[in-house]
Amino acid sequence: MDMKEAIRLCVCRMCPSFVDCKEEIAFCMAEKSTSDCITKENGCLCPGCPVQDREEFQHVYYCTKGCEKEQHETS
Ligand code: SF4
Ligand code: SF4
Repeated sequence: MDMKEAIRLCVCRMCPSFVDCKEEIAFCMAEKSTSDCITKENGCLCPGCPVQDREEFQHVYYCTKGCEKEQHETS
């Protein structure tokens, strides 16, 4: 899946942890590691997201902990 499609399907904007500072969403795929403005983990909707499902990603809190690749490498 490309980044454009991931951003279209991403449910981060509905998440209780989400803070909008006009940055790119789909944090699971992002090259940039974490969000500049999301710091509090108040729940994560990634486990129900179609991107997570289709890409078979295994982690959560990509906005605060880093993208799938990063979390995969450090776990
Ligand atoms: S898995 Fe999470 S970060 Fe990735 S696109 Fe879905 S909601 Fe956004
Ligand atoms: S990565 Fe998870 S915790 Fe962060 S905004 Fe997206 S759904 Fe919410």
